[in-house]
Amino acid sequence: MADRDTGIEFDLAVVGGGSGGLAGAFRAAEHGARVVLFEPDALGGTCVNLGCVPKKAMWLAADLAGRLRMAPSLGFNGLAGGHDGGIDRLDWQVFIAHRQRYISNIHAAYRRRLDAAGIVVRPSRARLVAADTLECDDGVRVIAKQVLLATGGHALRPDVPGAALGGVSDDFFAWRAAPERVAIVGGGYIAVELAGVLQALGSQVDLFVRGTRLLNGFDAQLCEQLAEDYRQHGVRVHFGYGLGEVESADGGGVRLRDATGQASERFDALLFATGRAPNSAGLGLDAVGVATDARGHVIVDARHATSVDGVHAVGDLGTDAALTPVAIAAARRLMDRLFGGRDALFDACDIATVVFSHPPIGKVGLTEAEARERHGDAVHVFSAGFRPMLQALAESPQRSLFKLVCVGQERRVIGIHLLGEAADEILQGFAVAMKRGITLDDLRDTVAIHPTSAEEVVLMR
Ligand code: FAD
Ligand code: NDP
Repeated sequence: MADRDTGIEFDLAVVGGGSGGLAGAFRAAEHGARVVLFEPDALGGTCVNLGCVPKKAMWLAADLAGRLRMAPSLGFNGLAGGHDGGIDRLDWQVFIAHRQRYISNIHAAYRRRLDAAGIVVRPSRARLVAADTLECDDGVRVIAKQVLLATGGHALRPDVPGAALGGVSDDFFAWRAAPERVAIVGGGYIAVELAGVLQALGSQVDLFVRGTRLLNGFDAQLCEQLAEDYRQHGVRVHFGYGLGEVESADGGGVRLRDATGQASERFDALLFATGRAPNSAGLGLDAVGVATDARGHVIVDARHATSVDGVHAVGDLGTDAALTPVAIAAARRLMDRLFGGRDALFDACDIATVVFSHPPIGKVGLTEAEARERHGDAVHVFSAGFRPMLQALAESPQRSLFKLVCVGQERRVIGIHLLGEAADEILQGFAVAMKRGITLDDLRDTVAIHPTSAEEVVLMR
């Protein structure tokens, strides 16, 4: 197996240096495999450069802004007299310099680790020309025994006239100031996260959702409360909105027209958060016979094998949940099997996930509706609605709502749903417990940590 340029022999060629590709390359190298990795852009892919990491940085800034706004009501004086009208107004240029420095450190750490592991990095796109052969943009061909495809995905815009006038999440991360008035189309992860961040950082946000609720797949009751929280924060949520077209507005910005032709107010900026599609075009999949589904996702089995021997796919390119830890876990298990002599399988059951809304919402396992559909009357639901101490002290209306979905006489926990302050940090540990098959009594037998929000999970009646 030879790289025609260098004469090095490869066991594994990885296409894409994002969450899944890097995890796979590192794990394979740990097992002694000779690895080449193709990545034309910044190391780390979507998560590090245009996803989880810059998003969480903006969320942290927004969270801090909310707390600063709350502080005067608790007796902190002198906070509202900042030089441009208040300390709670973020100077985006300064904050983004911090954000990008943090991201540059991640790039440097990856570069050091790749060098230390002896992984050859080619700063080029690659496409399959045979099951064991990849071609770079400059025509150089590389041969490897195994191929891992991990090219991720890209944002979609709705198919309406004028859609090019709106941006997507990639464009949001290039902003260097907050627009005054922002329209966001979508009701999923990205729409909800960016709406919360922008409103907290001082924009007026209008959220246009085509359905009747936020976050399909999350608990309906918690999402109803989240929509109410957003309204209290000033976000204008428009459910049942059918987008007809987008047009330029006089004086700059855009207006939306709904399906009946009704025009909206003027917005300085428009973001689409209407789903993502896999980066499967131009990968040479047809040429070698790698099967894809109707949306272009590479079809993989439980072992992340494609329809072609020796070609594997993980992450957003495939059919797993589009989450960084999923891409990483799948890639590591795959490499443990290919090069580590282990038969580890990726377990796609009960994956915990959090939306970094304001406040955050998280879930693991079945929602109440899913559980009732599957288990009928054997389902028992327990919930706790409360005001976290800081919100109560500040007389803020924001409440938390936690919910446990249990099944059977032993009341085994099959779903945990948390909306509220710190939900993002609380969920992980309970997700471990749920995977171990705990019952409601196991939770009740656990002595609470007081005073916390997390204790509400073990005190639920
Ligand atoms: P990516 O990380 O996208 O990496 C793919 C890489 O392949 C890219 O670097 C690309 O340049 C490269 N590539 C593409 N084509 C080729 C080619 N032909 N040759 C060589 N290289 C190629 N997930 C979470 O778990 N938590 C979060 O908080 C979270 N927040 C998100 C926020 C946003 C705004 C977005 C968009 C996503 C978020 N995600 C989050 C999802 C997460 O980013 C993805 O699930 C994850 O990055 C997928 O990893 P991947 O390896 O499949 O692809
Ligand atoms: P989602 O699938 O979460 O949401 C897409 C939203 O857009 C839905 O509300 C959908 O409505 C709506 N929509 C789709 N097409 C149209 C259209 N033509 N017109 C109007 N609305 C439309 O996708 P995102 O883009 O928000 O995020 C992509 C994925 O990235 C997520 O699913 C998640 O896996 C990952 N991610 C994870 C994060 C995290 O872990 N915190 C954060 C951000 C992203 P409907 O529901 O009616 O179909």
